[in-house]
Amino acid sequence: MTMHIWTASPRANEASAPTWFDTILIVSTQFLVEARAGAARAGRLTTPHGEVETPVFMPVGTLASVKGLPQEVLEELGVEILLANTYHLYLRPGVEQVRKLGGLHGFMSWPRSILTDSGGFQVFSLNDLRKVSQEGVTFRSHLDGSSHFFSPESAMEAQIGLGADIIMAFDECTEYPAEPERVRASMELTLRWAERSKNYFEEHKNEVPCNKVSDRTQALFGIVQGGMDLALRKESAERTIEIGFPGYAIGGLSVGEPRHVTREIVEATVQHLPAERPRYLMGVGTPEEIVEYANLGIDMMDCVLPTRAARHGLLFTSEGRISIKQAQYAGDESPLDPNCVCPICRRYSRAYLRHLYASNEVLAQVLNTIHNLSFYLDTMRAVRHSISLGRGARFLSEVWSRAKL
Ligand SMILES: [Zn+2]
Repeated sequence: MTMHIWTASPRANEASAPTWFDTILIVSTQFLVEARAGAARAGRLTTPHGEVETPVFMPVGTLASVKGLPQEVLEELGVEILLANTYHLYLRPGVEQVRKLGGLHGFMSWPRSILTDSGGFQVFSLNDLRKVSQEGVTFRSHLDGSSHFFSPESAMEAQIGLGADIIMAFDECTEYPAEPERVRASMELTLRWAERSKNYFEEHKNEVPCNKVSDRTQALFGIVQGGMDLALRKESAERTIEIGFPGYAIGGLSVGEPRHVTREIVEATVQHLPAERPRYLMGVGTPEEIVEYANLGIDMMDCVLPTRAARHGLLFTSEGRISIKQAQYAGDESPLDPNCVCPICRRYSRAYLRHLYASNEVLAQVLNTIHNLSFYLDTMRAVRHSISLGRGARFLSEVWSRAKL
């Protein structure tokens, strides 16, 4: 059924009054689980900018750029969704600037899906001098030392202005290790902030600088915290679900805890999340780990590892990790990874990649990043394929030969 709704002008700076659009009822993301294998699922997430096959690895484009790669290359590699960081974009070039230029999609000319984080994690990880209160967080810019303040409301305002397809509730990432009372207090704060995030979002979600008329709009996901305490993770999940979101993230992991603890928390927390909603594990991991977490029922992951490691000459291959700077590759005519079909492995030798890196050529970062991202994306494709065949736990060992590092 078609109905009229009020929605913000695509370019709010050009018109002060809302514009009539003839469109169907606006809904946020849709998620369909299409196949299961044990706890793992293969699904399809539909956002205002297209479909995303899950489980998915989301490359990180902190400043509206996956470092070193133009958007057309990302498209060729099959990237369906990427992540951008609100904290960095808020500081530079500024949310208002991005909003006026059509939101992130228009600004960076990326027609597919985007997810932004809330800025909470960056404030946590980049600011030793941050001050947390019930109201929000005061922090200093890592660029010029200037003082800034993020609250659930201002973090939502920033993410609505950036216009990503999926935005995240403002949370506090609990440090590790932490005393039990501190973990609970932090979890309670995140729950109060989740409620405030949702309230602000519901009142302002029509202000998204959408660059096309779509029958879908931005979605706000909640974040489960609770440190390394299984009971608190359960409580955090249940109370976040009570607030109600179209998707749920597991935050506060990969903050220095041992890997077996990360796995234990993920496995336990997933069981308390609704099966029909996407589950996003924030900030992980190695190729081996993303396979393992997909096996536990995680649908979405992001990590700077493949792109950051590439810029440092650390390459993931089906035969293990390669540090391309090593002299042993100086005369090596073989491809970086004989089992990889990426454009780099099809064309260039290890000797050439080693030379580019040793010579500090910009091209080294570009080629290395293309390969590492291809490796991650291909690994996820293999995982999805295995799940779609219903191979259960067996798929893990089959994919393992690619990811075992
Ligand atoms: Zn390759």
